[in-house]
Amino acid sequence: MTQTTRQTLVMGNWKLNGNKAMVAQLITALQAPATQHPNVAVAVCPPVLFLGQAQALLTDSPIALGAQDVDIHDQGAFTGENSAHMYTEFGVQYVLVGHSERRTLHGESDAMVAAKFRAAQDAGLTPVLCIGETLAQFEAGETQAVVERQLHEVIAHCGIESFANAVIAYEPVWAIGTGKTATPEIAQGVHAAIRAFLANLDAKVADGVQILYGGSVKGSSAAGLFAMADIDGALVGGAALQADEFAAIISAG
Ligand code: PEP
Repeated sequence: MTQTTRQTLVMGNWKLNGNKAMVAQLITALQAPATQHPNVAVAVCPPVLFLGQAQALLTDSPIALGAQDVDIHDQGAFTGENSAHMYTEFGVQYVLVGHSERRTLHGESDAMVAAKFRAAQDAGLTPVLCIGETLAQFEAGETQAVVERQLHEVIAHCGIESFANAVIAYEPVWAIGTGKTATPEIAQGVHAAIRAFLANLDAKVADGVQILYGGSVKGSSAAGLFAMADIDGALVGGAALQADEFAAIISAG
């Protein structure tokens, strides 16, 4: 089978950072690099409170908007939550589900993550399913078993065909915010194993799905990662808050 050409996707996860001035500065500064690299899809995920401001700044921009989390419900008595349908009113295209900080700090189970994945898709959003192992699991050689378990729950809940409209972000927990990036070879090995796992169920879906790497990606490490056959972009935390670093990652795509 001929291999699909998958577009590189560079997505910034701003986490709990920013204010109105910073949102304006950062988005304004990213317009030129995003426009100059039309081959690279670029997205930013600001905190929910700034989605409206970001949407206005991104009018006629190639930069897409993402959200960092979503509730499993559409509406109702769920204080503090935000639904996928609400995001659609703000021009949101992507939503992160299962980020390790949600899994760890908010106790999100694989089943909860799968329900969020479905809620996002039901509203027409593209879920970005974050998966990855802890340092202890990495050292115990359990990486593949962990990511397969995390994928399995979504496949069981939503079907393999759901990955035709989804993105996967492989983010080893030991590399997130630590300054330790998995080497391109280590990351490629896991990405290839993820794709092979999906290909056992549906080769076409596996070939088409974008698998991003996340974990301390910087301008200096992006090109090496992106050169790998199964690494289709990056989910970026810390470096996404610095316009020049994020622009360098875009340029590497
Ligand atoms: C992330 O939070 O998804 C992430 C990859 O963060 P960082 O780039 O800071 O490691």
